[in-house]
Amino acid sequence: MATTFKETYTGFHTEAEHFVQFYEAETFFLDSLSTFIGTGLATGEVCVVIGTQAHLDSLEERLEANGLALPVACSQGRYISLEASETLSRFMVDGLLVPELFTEVVGNVIAQAAKSGNHVRVFGELVALLWMRDNRSAALQLEELWNDLYHNAPPFSLFCAYPMHGFNGEVYGRQFTEICNQHSRVIPGESYTALASSDEQLRAIALLQQKANSLEAEIAERKELERRKDEFISMASHELKTPVTALKGFTQLLLRRFKSRNDEESLRFLTRMDSQINKLTKLICDLLDISKMQSGQLEYRLEAFDLAVLAQEILENMQGTTQTHRLLLEQTERAPIFGDRDRIGQVLINLLTNAIKYSPDADRIIVRIITTEGKVLASVQDFGIGIAEAYQEKIFERFYQVNEPAEKTYPGLGIGLYIAGEIIKRHQGQLRVQSQKEEGSIFSFCLPLYA
Ligand code: ADP
Repeated sequence: MATTFKETYTGFHTEAEHFVQFYEAETFFLDSLSTFIGTGLATGEVCVVIGTQAHLDSLEERLEANGLALPVACSQGRYISLEASETLSRFMVDGLLVPELFTEVVGNVIAQAAKSGNHVRVFGELVALLWMRDNRSAALQLEELWNDLYHNAPPFSLFCAYPMHGFNGEVYGRQFTEICNQHSRVIPGESYTALASSDEQLRAIALLQQKANSLEAEIAERKELERRKDEFISMASHELKTPVTALKGFTQLLLRRFKSRNDEESLRFLTRMDSQINKLTKLICDLLDISKMQSGQLEYRLEAFDLAVLAQEILENMQGTTQTHRLLLEQTERAPIFGDRDRIGQVLINLLTNAIKYSPDADRIIVRIITTEGKVLASVQDFGIGIAEAYQEKIFERFYQVNEPAEKTYPGLGIGLYIAGEIIKRHQGQLRVQSQKEEGSIFSFCLPLYA
């Protein structure tokens, strides 16, 4: 007969298994964990717990409240606890797992525990921790390492747990299946397992199936809408480009004509018109770039060039258009890189435009081009309104703008940083931000030096 969910935690586990529990609420998880470990301790088994400090503290509190003498179990070697982050750091190097170190660190603890001859129960939170830190490939690899250990060490029961909210998103479907496949048993979240009768559970499954089908239909519809929106942006920006190019041409013609006639007033109006046309052209070009990036059609013309020279040129040009800020350059002598000069220039212009726009009360901006250890680090620092931590990842998304009342006064479409980020990504770099509200921001990226 199949084991019930309750029996999973309270059973004697003379038969080893590697099971996973998904949970919605912390309290439910802690109840399951303290039942699993509490039953083990009460029946003379050896328990190894590898958890976060917060979970270890809560577990120990619950075990003691249930009358278990933990100090005694510890001194007899029947309760062994390890802090998860610290344990992880002992077998990970630069974000990568070292299998031999895992066997040495974790394998030895379990082998030691099994020496008593009693059955061993293990709770491990290492994989969940990696998953929640977004190191998903390492999490999946660690599940495999646990399975290897499980098949090659003396038999033990292994309990893994993941918070369900870590899988919110269609993109995690494949990895979720993979995690389930790595376990001999899968226990769904408590809103399902807490249902008392099998009739209730069958009804819940029917409801979930209906929900899943509706969501799939909804996703398909949204994807189609998204596709049509992208197509519209692409067509609209193409259509806009032709008349704006003609307007620009005629404005230039009139500018020359009024200049030769010394018509100062018309020249002044026309110069303002020309600068508005430039803004419109930049907007249209940005929208076209986004469309091309979406469809992977943006072409890069790669060449060797000096980033310090490029930064100098851009700063000189932009200094001519701003009276409010001094644009300062700190740079090393030479910073040769290999990439698309115009596109990297576009990144610097976007960052500088933002730095000026979002620091209305400041009077300087510092651009740094520094070379170190085979790399060039470029950064743009402003002393403006800054960005709260909650938005620091989101601002790189397409069409994202910080939604705070104080920001409503700044014009824009939320595309400059997306474009800059994509360009840097295509140059094997990453655009990052460090910022403090009301103090200012530093946007930076790193590219390999070209020898
Ligand atoms: P936008 O056209 O809105 O400026 P971006 O993609 O360039 O679009 O920037 C996205 C959002 O990031 C902006 O709306 C703004 O809220 C925030 N942001 C960008 N740069 C800065 C900066 N230097 N200081 C403060 N906030 C910034």
